[in-house]
Amino acid sequence: MMDKEDLRDVLNWDRCKECGECLINCRYMDFSKQEAIEEIKKINRGDVVSSKVIKRCISCYACDAFCPNDAHPYERIVYNWDYRYKIKGLPIRASYLMPTRRPNFRQDLPYSSKEKALHRKWASETPPAKVVLYPGCNLLSMPLLAQGEIFDKLPVWGSWDKCCGEMYFRMGLLDPVAKIAEKLTKFYKGKDIEEMVFVCPAGYNMFTNVLPEQFGAKFPFKTTFFTDWFLNEWEKGTFEIKNRLHESVVMHDSCHGRILGDDFMNRQRSLLERLGLTIHETSQNRTHGLCCGVAAGCNKYSVLDLLLNGMKQLWTLDRAKGDEVAIYCTGCLLTLSCLRLLNPFGKRLVHTLEYARNALGESVPRGNQTKALWVLLGITRYALPTYFSSQRFYVNSEQ
Ligand code: SF4
Ligand code: SF4
Repeated sequence: MMDKEDLRDVLNWDRCKECGECLINCRYMDFSKQEAIEEIKKINRGDVVSSKVIKRCISCYACDAFCPNDAHPYERIVYNWDYRYKIKGLPIRASYLMPTRRPNFRQDLPYSSKEKALHRKWASETPPAKVVLYPGCNLLSMPLLAQGEIFDKLPVWGSWDKCCGEMYFRMGLLDPVAKIAEKLTKFYKGKDIEEMVFVCPAGYNMFTNVLPEQFGAKFPFKTTFFTDWFLNEWEKGTFEIKNRLHESVVMHDSCHGRILGDDFMNRQRSLLERLGLTIHETSQNRTHGLCCGVAAGCNKYSVLDLLLNGMKQLWTLDRAKGDEVAIYCTGCLLTLSCLRLLNPFGKRLVHTLEYARNALGESVPRGNQTKALWVLLGITRYALPTYFSSQRFYVNSEQ
């Protein structure tokens, strides 16, 4: 991790005017201007005892997008959680959510022989091409999404142990993120890759911004989001659209999409429109949209917080116009699919990858609901029985 002074520069620590704008816009806490100002002052001086935000924030990341001074209010919050973690560690119920602990809710799901074969193929020692797709743990959980013509041209390269550390960052566990930055820097050094394409905005933001800027990681390749890569290849004539789509969809934005900005979120819509879809929006959307719920478990490591906050967004999406929900983040797809099982009569959840493959004339196996069922069963088996345990632990991200 960078030393404190460098970090203060990167995160623009001195630019905070304590205006409260970030917290007034928070969709999860209802602050007046005066309360927001008092809260940001508490966060800035590390008052973990009386700050409501440090206790109740659901880690949605949106306040960074609300700050007019680029003063990183979100990092001010999670860096306070880091202090809490260093003193107290984590409750044992969090263990099942940790990507580098075993068992965990992605790696230890049942996988078919076809899925295991894809995992093995993607974990090759050397990169299969100069332009590769980083799967991230969410695509590794639903590997059948990444087959067909697109992935003949964009081979997947990665495995569980190349975790980008996003969950640790969102929980404010900064030493584990720093170790991951170091490990990934060492692994990718000298590898013959020109471009790494990401299908998950979380991994894309971690490799492009968070790991290099806040944790000193260095990667010898350009990073590109899948939508941009696909649009570019389509324009070059690499792909021919055989099946123009006709569905009407409501957009769900990812937390990292909000941070990556309006242009990024517009490009996700633009690809779907060019494929033929009609786009609808929820009443509060884009930067002001709601999280899929996964981040809501990051403060108190509580599955209940995750379910309640995720349900709020699922209800919002189901009430909006559009026959299906369009999702461009594999993490949001997996989380909302878990919630869909609890509320099965709403809209179908479809990833951009599926729409792109459909437009190329392919039918895509829909494994997300089955995977979601296994995630819920795993939580019931491994996390819930430890819910009230006082046992605590520290993360070893090198595992
Ligand atoms: S972080 Fe930004 S928006 Fe929040 S109080 Fe500071 S300057 Fe204002
Ligand atoms: S991260 Fe989200 S929930 Fe937390 S204070 Fe910022 S906007 Fe509110």
